[in-house]
Amino acid sequence: MSGINRREFLGVGAAGLGAAAGLGFSEVARAAPMLAPRVSKASFARLLAEMRGVVGDAWVYADDQGLRSYKKSYTPDPQLQHVPVGAVAPQSVEEVQAIVRIANHYRQPLWTVSTGKNLGYGSATPATPGQMVLDLKRMNRILNVDPDLATALVEPGVTYQQLQDYLDEHKIPLWLDVPTIGPIASPVGNTLDRGVGYTPYGDHFTFQCGMEVVLPNGDVMRTGMGSIKNSTTWQAFKWGYGPYVDGLFTQSNFGICTKMGMWLMPKPPCYKPFMIRHAEMSDVARIVEAMRPLRVASLIPNVNLMMGAAYQLAMFNRRSDVWQGEGSATDEAVKKAAKANDLGMWNTYFALYGTDESVAAIEPIVRGALTASGGEVLTEKEMGGNPWFHHHATLMRGGLNLDEIGLARWKGNGGGLAWFAPVAPAKGDETARQTALAKEILGKYGFDYTAAYAIGWRELHHIIALLFDKTDPAEEQKADTCYREMVTRFGEQGWASYRTGVPSMDLVAAQYGQVNRDFNKLLKNAIDPKGILAPGKSGIY
Ligand SMILES: Cc1cc2nc3c(=O)[nH]c(=O)nc-3n(C[C@H](O)[C@H](O)[C@H](O)COP(=O)(O)OP(=O)(O)OC[C@H]3O[C@@H](n4cnc5c(N)ncnc54)[C@H](O)[C@@H]3O)c2cc1C
Repeated sequence: MSGINRREFLGVGAAGLGAAAGLGFSEVARAAPMLAPRVSKASFARLLAEMRGVVGDAWVYADDQGLRSYKKSYTPDPQLQHVPVGAVAPQSVEEVQAIVRIANHYRQPLWTVSTGKNLGYGSATPATPGQMVLDLKRMNRILNVDPDLATALVEPGVTYQQLQDYLDEHKIPLWLDVPTIGPIASPVGNTLDRGVGYTPYGDHFTFQCGMEVVLPNGDVMRTGMGSIKNSTTWQAFKWGYGPYVDGLFTQSNFGICTKMGMWLMPKPPCYKPFMIRHAEMSDVARIVEAMRPLRVASLIPNVNLMMGAAYQLAMFNRRSDVWQGEGSATDEAVKKAAKANDLGMWNTYFALYGTDESVAAIEPIVRGALTASGGEVLTEKEMGGNPWFHHHATLMRGGLNLDEIGLARWKGNGGGLAWFAPVAPAKGDETARQTALAKEILGKYGFDYTAAYAIGWRELHHIIALLFDKTDPAEEQKADTCYREMVTRFGEQGWASYRTGVPSMDLVAAQYGQVNRDFNKLLKNAIDPKGILAPGKSGIY
């Protein structure tokens, strides 16, 4: 048994970051990080020296300057609980194994990131104080792309941009599926946090195939067909034999993924993007009712996005362009600004993929259903010059851009953003109730309903961007309180998050029940008895 509990990891009672609460964003970077519960100053100095011996002096960071980028995060952290104490960047699996052995010896917790761009969920910052970031950015080789099977095998530091450049360079006609900040993020990091994109391959974990994992004792394990001698099917067959374990390494702290296989989509001969424009906030339920049968039957094959107007406006505007009054931006103000940009209150983006003939056969069916929902069906012909249409048309073919990063500047350059992402079944009445509840809670704190829904196959991800000014400590505290109220009150209705940021991992884990938490703890104690890997990730210690 690790015997380490949440109280110890949060350093309750210890002098350190807790005492520094109340500092603004710029001061966070200067705050002196707190050591992990069982690590003394002297042993920390020794373990840094040993790690330097493994990776070289240049790749261990423990000073203010070196840690600056690792401390940066959009999420609220009024109590300064999410500040790493150091970082180490190995270049090979062997170096990862050596670091893990040192960490075990000194009981130094490690928080693994691939490219560390988990923006709005905590970036590279850990769930508890005293952790060192294990940064895998230097392990960035594309190990294989098989054009016939349409598969890839990559290391954690590979970005979507790097993989796209490889496909372009080698003229391989395969598409990626990217999150909206694809150029700077990694397939491995995104998939391990069960992220999404917007082609038919949008549910990334579904299209993952085979992993290599360094276990907390330093052993290297390959999942699926990867551990078979002379195997040629590692990226072709997901399940292997016996218990299927890949899921255990997603949203967890049971291992360090050092290689991951993924399936890529063959470029279709015909690709046609659409936008459905609905005028009223209250249209939200009928859009979902119209869309669900089309998604369940895969007539519309991609993860589609129902974008709320305020979210879209925030991509390319400052809040003061839309609303200068007190409290949340009103629907009237948002509607007026949306209209001026050819947007409705909800703008739903989807695409058809196939041959000219198959797309021509399906188009009238989807047009009929979506027109009946009261929406205007628009295409490249009508919306070609519109920057939002262009953004989504790019995303739905796996194209890369960073348009959405503008969200973080809605309230100035402070960069405050926390994603709240509850899931619900794709049913209109639940959507309407979720929208009303979100608007009520955000309104109570004066924040805006900058939100979208992603319609997966049978479920909705409600993607609420809580946008705040992180340079203002009072607003940061308010954002933290508002976020917790949303988690709690949505949870009471049965709507828990599919993924959450480092400040709220315990809160969300509690909603999934004690038996689940106990089971995770049982596994954790068996696999990682000293609690070395990412304590607090998904509420697991
Ligand atoms: C404007 C904006 C738009 C966004 N749009 C999307 C979107 O469309 N879809 C989406 O999914 N997300 C989106 N995000 C959230 C996030 O930025 C992405 O999911 C991003 O891909 C995650 O960062 P990363 O790829 O660098 O992963 P990392 O930050 O490296 O990893 C994510 C988490 O996975 C775990 N992990 C990472 N690597 C390993 C490893 N090798 N072994 C074990 N555990 C590991 C860690 O817990 C880590 O915290 C968006 C964020 C912003 C700000």
